[in-house]
Amino acid sequence: MKPTHIEHLGIAVNSLEESIPFFENVLGLKCYSIEEVADQKVKTAFFLVGQTKIELLESTDPEGPIGKFLANKGQGVHHVAFAVEGVQKALDFAADKGIRLIDKTPRKGAEGLSIAFLHPKSTCGVLMELCEHPQK
Ligand code: ZN
Repeated sequence: MKPTHIEHLGIAVNSLEESIPFFENVLGLKCYSIEEVADQKVKTAFFLVGQTKIELLESTDPEGPIGKFLANKGQGVHHVAFAVEGVQKALDFAADKGIRLIDKTPRKGAEGLSIAFLHPKSTCGVLMELCEHPQK
């Protein structure tokens, strides 16, 4: 499927408010967007590093995916997102190779991206996301 680059790195945090100052004041990055993705029960904050983004994820519901992740593992890297051309095509390809999929078809993520997740059981224990910007 040949990803073009790492689109973003998702980091689960207890609180955006408490985490953003490190990225802004120490790393010197600017938070350019805060967005709630109701669907996934998260609030996200974005920073740009080159062409890769850091996506901080704060849970809005303990029963949501990030709420559960934080309860089990605490704060930390939650997922790596690869930019691919054609998420559905990439999913079909992965399924063909016997990779477990969390999403069989792409759904809408933060920033209007088309996204889908591969199961960490099949991807070295790291949750992996495939994503692409919708056709302009
Ligand atoms: Zn993501």
